[in-house]
Amino acid sequence: MTAADFIVVGGGIAGLSLAARLAAHGRVVVFEAEEAIGYHSSGRSATFAHYGIGNRTVRGLTSYSRAFFQAPPEGFAPAPLAKPSPALFVASEEMLPALDALTAEMKLFTDTIEPADEAGMLALCPILKTGQSGLVSAVVDHGGLRLDSDALLQGYARAVRAAGGETLTGRRLTAVRSAAGDWEVQVASGETWIAPVLVNAAGAWADGLAEMAGVRPLGLQPKRRTIIVVDPPAGTDVRAWPFVKTAVDEFYMLPEAGRLMASPVDEIDCEPCDASPDDYDIALAAYRIEQYTSLAVQRIAHRWAGLRTFTPDRVPTAGFAPDAPGFFWLAGQGGYGLQTAPAMAEAAEALILGGSWPAGLSGLGVAPDAVRPERLFKNS
Ligand SMILES: Cc1cc2nc3c(=O)[nH]c(=O)nc-3n(C[C@H](O)[C@H](O)[C@H](O)COP(=O)(O)OP(=O)(O)OC[C@H]3O[C@@H](n4cnc5c(N)ncnc54)[C@H](O)[C@@H]3O)c2cc1C
Repeated sequence: MTAADFIVVGGGIAGLSLAARLAAHGRVVVFEAEEAIGYHSSGRSATFAHYGIGNRTVRGLTSYSRAFFQAPPEGFAPAPLAKPSPALFVASEEMLPALDALTAEMKLFTDTIEPADEAGMLALCPILKTGQSGLVSAVVDHGGLRLDSDALLQGYARAVRAAGGETLTGRRLTAVRSAAGDWEVQVASGETWIAPVLVNAAGAWADGLAEMAGVRPLGLQPKRRTIIVVDPPAGTDVRAWPFVKTAVDEFYMLPEAGRLMASPVDEIDCEPCDASPDDYDIALAAYRIEQYTSLAVQRIAHRWAGLRTFTPDRVPTAGFAPDAPGFFWLAGQGGYGLQTAPAMAEAAEALILGGSWPAGLSGLGVAPDAVRPERLFKNS
């Protein structure tokens, strides 16, 4: 049996970002079931950070995380983690109330927002269908960030190793049990590890891992989301186009390596799995492109799906399980796990070590009780 100070289950953005912080405080070992880190949700995202998603806690976590993306620690990654890119939120006539409500919420966190009329929308993205039967109004946030998810994941993994920790891939935990104040885990390869703190960052599998450990689950729900990549209009350079999203959850689109990536913003309840896209959602994505833009989809160059896993209140969770000392939840990152990761990792570090809560998070209205698991058990 090998001893560590912190066992982290899950080599996605959640597990790795926290492991990188914990590595300064003791021996950390990250277990990832797949052969590569970021194989599941963290490697399948649209990699955008913006305020057009989630609730106030999520926006606060997003806001706090920006400093890390824009100025990571010296040597964290060989290239920038984030590239500025406008985020354009568009509305048809019926969506105007939703656009107003979204704008008011976003303004609580950013002052880089301004309205865009039809000409303003077309200046940013000339293929949008505007006018009476199309999009009539928009707001643009000039502070959007396109993230480099691979650079983030690799940077965190390097930071773990540089501080003496380990990230072990191809290591699925098959048993977890509490043993005299420690957590003992069995790996499929036959190893056994023990540590006083176990971090459950198992993404869509986090409730299953808790059940394996005899810990009460949070009620997580994985939801599948689909992305397609299509060719842009012939001869068009789309690299400077914005992230475009409808004010209601119907459609988003953004440039991707010279092509356009789009999603019908689907949320299909799913069991934890290696998600693959459904034909209906692929067709819906193509339909939405043609509904909101003048582009005729000729060919789908790539398609994929991933799971976005939500708590019942859609707020990511960090905190010790109330019913299991030493068992720490870092789960339910939903559709914003990348853009909130630096904030969640710092918050989780403070909660694990009993350190002070980041003052910047309090200033943004995010208190520990907003993310602790206790809130999810209040009514039962
Ligand atoms: C299509 C799509 C678009 C998205 N767009 C964005 C976006 O633009 N911006 C944004 O911020 N977020 C976005 N997200 C959300 C984001 O990707 C997730 O919130 C985030 O990746 C969740 O990270 P995680 O580490 O919790 O989960 P994961 O990346 O899934 O990591 C969990 C890991 O735990 C491992 N694991 C599970 N059980 C075990 C076990 N027993 N033993 C060992 N390992 C185990 C799994 O193999 C997995 O690799 C998007 C998601 C999808 C699917």
